[in-house]
Amino acid sequence: MEAAGYEKEVEVAVRVVQMACSLCQKVQESLVRSPPDLITSKDDRSPVTVADWGVQATVSWVLSQSFGSGNTSIVAEEDDQTLSSKDATVLLESVVNTVNSCLSEAPKYGFRAPEKELETCEVLEAIRSCNSTGGSKGRFWVLDPVDGTLGFVRGDQYAIALALIEDGEVILGILGCPNYPMKKEWLNYHQRYYRLMSNLSPPTFGSWHKGCVMYARKGSGKAWMQPLVHDVGELDLHNNARVVRVSSVSDPACATFCEPVEKANSSHSFTAGLAQSVGVRKQPLRVYSMVKYAAIARGDAEIFMKFARAGYKEKIWDHAAGVVIIQEAGGVVTDAGGRPLDFSKGIYLEGLDRGIIACSGALLHEKIIKAVDASWDSSNL
Ligand SMILES: [Mg+2]
Repeated sequence: MEAAGYEKEVEVAVRVVQMACSLCQKVQESLVRSPPDLITSKDDRSPVTVADWGVQATVSWVLSQSFGSGNTSIVAEEDDQTLSSKDATVLLESVVNTVNSCLSEAPKYGFRAPEKELETCEVLEAIRSCNSTGGSKGRFWVLDPVDGTLGFVRGDQYAIALALIEDGEVILGILGCPNYPMKKEWLNYHQRYYRLMSNLSPPTFGSWHKGCVMYARKGSGKAWMQPLVHDVGELDLHNNARVVRVSSVSDPACATFCEPVEKANSSHSFTAGLAQSVGVRKQPLRVYSMVKYAAIARGDAEIFMKFARAGYKEKIWDHAAGVVIIQEAGGVVTDAGGRPLDFSKGIYLEGLDRGIIACSGALLHEKIIKAVDASWDSSNL
């Protein structure tokens, strides 16, 4: 990525997301093999796993080492409450082991490994220190350690999302998509088939058949994709990256719609009805998590909308990385009123008009906004 400034931030952030992808792959393998001491539930009953805390601790530790703990402020999804409770000792132990095993590989990703294994209290502190509440001033990182935990525990799609925000603007976005293969067609195969195949012949460096990492810097006019790597030590990180671009389809009839698999926080029927009303005829692309943003940035799909159910507020970590990647890849993301998403108001996307609309281009975006306006009043949202 040719860039004025932020070279170190891009470098560190992409590498740490690569490392987090590797952590998640290992946990996902073990979950699928032997479920599930490693899963617990949050208060809202959404699942959370060793990987969520493991990634948060690892990314927090690496960013603090790289930029100094005094200069590193992080907004992240998880806290240490569940883990610190008395009946979570087994869970906590496996988080600590997972983090240490991941950090022992840090040199492969161009980072220094800790001099000795992290103590339990250090791991908890790394998780707890991600306690920034964001806002409109200064610099902070935004992390969703595992986005789409349901997809993750099912052996399906999930994403690791990291973004850098400065004075309320998203400057960098990195999306690690460990199960999102190079080619869209490969998505149609069952995930188990992937796992079987990659066990038979482990992916070599530069092979694209498993996952990818996408990233973009605001204003660069480019978004990039690289394969998952397992040893970047001797390699220029960006050698293997290629530019991705949104699709040029502007006719809704030829567009592909992204749909969430999980229905908990969004209104499926409204978006499905809307797709129909604008003439979308193709099969929707149903994927878990922010992989939907990656799909649009890469031209695999053209439209993604999310209308939250009443009472649900969108959080910045679920969108920041994906938004900048789509924008730099040539796409458009706004709320349903056509306004940019506001990342400067704390951990929520405050003031969001109805929902989020992401499209591959301005023309398509305009058509979708009109269609939303036309059918909004008759919806139950
Ligand atoms: Mg999450």
